[in-house]
Amino acid sequence: MRSMTKSTRQIQIGQVTIGGPAIAIIAGPCSIESEAQFLEAASQAKKAGAHLLRGGIYKLRTHPQSFQGLGDPALAIAESVRKKLGMPLVSEITDPRQIEGMISIIDVFQVGTRNMYNYPLLKELGKTSKPVLLKRSFSASIEEWLLAAEYIESSGNPNVILCERGIRTFERATRNTLDLSAVAFVKQHSTLPVIVDPSHATGRRDLIEPMSLAAIAAGADGLLIEMHPNAAASLSDGHQAIDGEDLARILSRVEKLGQAIDRPILRLA
Ligand code: PEP
Ligand code: MN
Repeated sequence: MRSMTKSTRQIQIGQVTIGGPAIAIIAGPCSIESEAQFLEAASQAKKAGAHLLRGGIYKLRTHPQSFQGLGDPALAIAESVRKKLGMPLVSEITDPRQIEGMISIIDVFQVGTRNMYNYPLLKELGKTSKPVLLKRSFSASIEEWLLAAEYIESSGNPNVILCERGIRTFERATRNTLDLSAVAFVKQHSTLPVIVDPSHATGRRDLIEPMSLAAIAAGADGLLIEMHPNAAASLSDGHQAIDGEDLARILSRVEKLGQAIDRPILRLA
């Protein structure tokens, strides 16, 4: 059978290309908790082979009593660590009023699962030229997800990266259900690059490796993985965080699999 995959739009973030032949890796802690924690996590992520850093400044938590992110004070930490390590940074925006403070500090705006339907936010991000990582809502059909992307594109910003992060089903053994057929579908029916977040998809650190491999086999252009230097002390999502050594091991297995299917891991000059 002829390959049905459409050619994928390439999104450039500094030296990193997402949507090209090579796989890109985004890694870092769920939340920025302190300068020491973020610097250590980021250094470990870099050493393990990640290309882009992640770290939540503003968090949207289901429980109002849960840690909500450091908020504005984390902007300076993010800026300093990004500069020290020379790595582009992905961070979630939860409100259009945060654009001004974030735009010069981050390299990719992440839209979280709870905000995929926030059309005013999508339209505002469409007026910028920064890449937007658009997570699929846990209750969105593929069509709704692609239409959300269109809100950003039709407002003027073509730099959209889709992220499958699991959908809500009847299953309780995992936090969500990773919908890998959505990844293969999007690769065939859309020109947008798509990455997979096995961390929020499963909520379990023991499933990050197998789901990372499966995601690449399904055609994902990259992975977004949560890691923490000390998962037990993590202020959010510690149960799904892996450490730097785990990340390095997973990436070496992803690399081996990639060799078999012509998806090398991105190498930076
Ligand atoms: C996150 O990436 O930290 C996050 C909150 O993800 P999601 O929106 O997919 O739950
Ligand atoms: Mn998280």
